[in-house]
Amino acid sequence: MRFSLRHFSKMPPVLKTFDYLVIGGGSGGIASARRAAEFGVKVALVEEARWGGTCVNVGCVPKKVMFNTAMHMEYIHDHKDYGFDVELKGFNWSTIKKSRDEYIKRLNGIYASNLEKSKVEKIVGHASFTEDGSVEVDGQRYKGNHTLIATGGQPTIPNIPGAEHGITSDGFFELEDLPKKVVVVGAGYIAVELAGIFGALGADTSILIRYDKVLRTFDSMVSTAVTDNLEHGNVKVMRRTHVTSVKKESDGTLTLDLNSGQIKGVNCLLWAIGRKPNSNLGLEKLGVETDKAGHIIVDEFQNTKAKNIYALGDVCGKALLTPVAIAAGRRLSHRLFDNKPDLKLNYDNIATVVFSHPPVGTVGLTEEEAEQKHGKDNLKIYSSDFTPMYYAVTAAKQKCSMKLICAGPEEKVVGLHMVGQGVDEMLQGFAVAVKMGATKAQFDDCVAIHPTSAEELVTMR
Ligand SMILES: Cc1cc2nc3c(=O)[nH]c(=O)nc-3n(C[C@H](O)[C@H](O)[C@H](O)COP(=O)(O)OP(=O)(O)OC[C@H]3O[C@@H](n4cnc5c(N)ncnc54)[C@H](O)[C@@H]3O)c2cc1C
Repeated sequence: MRFSLRHFSKMPPVLKTFDYLVIGGGSGGIASARRAAEFGVKVALVEEARWGGTCVNVGCVPKKVMFNTAMHMEYIHDHKDYGFDVELKGFNWSTIKKSRDEYIKRLNGIYASNLEKSKVEKIVGHASFTEDGSVEVDGQRYKGNHTLIATGGQPTIPNIPGAEHGITSDGFFELEDLPKKVVVVGAGYIAVELAGIFGALGADTSILIRYDKVLRTFDSMVSTAVTDNLEHGNVKVMRRTHVTSVKKESDGTLTLDLNSGQIKGVNCLLWAIGRKPNSNLGLEKLGVETDKAGHIIVDEFQNTKAKNIYALGDVCGKALLTPVAIAAGRRLSHRLFDNKPDLKLNYDNIATVVFSHPPVGTVGLTEEEAEQKHGKDNLKIYSSDFTPMYYAVTAAKQKCSMKLICAGPEEKVVGLHMVGQGVDEMLQGFAVAVKMGATKAQFDDCVAIHPTSAEELVTMR
């Protein structure tokens, strides 16, 4: 790197130097900053928007509130079958939005006060790097002996005429009312979750997917079951379909031109076609490398290519989940400031849930990945399809599907996949077993809990 002295002289003087300067007050940044502060080092955290980042403000948390709302609607339909004489008189989106917003505001405050309690200095504003590796925020320059980039990502919208008339997942959380007619574009977990919420709450909902199934990177059992559940539930699945242009009509509705046909009268178009990293921070000046999509390239210890600059979480593009960013952030702080030089996050066997209707729980390899890794002949697949007992007395039924992928003569469980009522809460414990390398025989040695759906996982033949 060559710098001109003339350029340096234009920079404001360094206001403060910290042992650890963290950019991004989301899941990873907050976790890492607070853990570092526990070790007595001087820490600052820069955030340009709301404390808590994507998860708290426009991700996991408000999404789960809306998933719970949708679950109420599903249960209401079963109340009669369980003997309750209840009448659904209406649903008020703005009631739940108001309480959800208040809850998130409380969380923002809790995050801010936790940072204060931890003695992490809060710096509010947009951070960017200067040529010497210090960080500029609102015309002030700060120096970190170690600097972490945990700036997350943002939703993308396609480059087609009229795309700006649609919203993204961020806009979903600003909706003041349940739209009447909704089109969700995308096949990933965010598209599936938001389409499921709209559909369950009674919006006329379509999901437009490029191929035949949603969740294509998941095990085929999962992607087939979730696509079927959407289709047989409240969401129209439009396969091999994409939007070519969007027009806003005089009545405020949208007309979508598709690769084949048109959809008229749309009240809400939601793009859920992927996310891009917030890596536009002047990284090129420092030698921090990014891939073609802009994700920061790091090694297994979260080191970037530049000395003493680290990155983690969504901005690195690997396993985009809150607990992953938190775990990577905490481990990094232990490595840097707690004399644990070998500590790093193991990204294998990360359990994940999709809050679809019903939900998905999955950990480990898909069958396809297991075949590639262990060879088809070395695998034994156990699967089960059943109707949970909850539906024994209800007219509406939802199937539960489970699959165990076992490898080698000892039948080590290398993949566990489930779709069905309650699997979201069922997964965590089984993920511990998979992470510990449990075998099918060890699963079976655990006496079942009856009557539950989970017992199926220890009784499969
Ligand atoms: C709709 C939706 C649902 C989700 N549901 C789940 C779920 O159920 N479970 C789950 O585990 N994960 C979920 N996620 C993913 C999860 O939110 C992310 O993986 C997680 O927030 C990543 O944490 P992070 O620290 O990398 O980034 P973020 O949490 O995004 O934090 C980054 C922060 O950096 C700030 N920032 C960016 N650039 C700058 C800058 N230049 N200067 C100052 N500040 C900056 C941003 O304002 C932001 O606050 C969901 C995401 C979405 C969008």
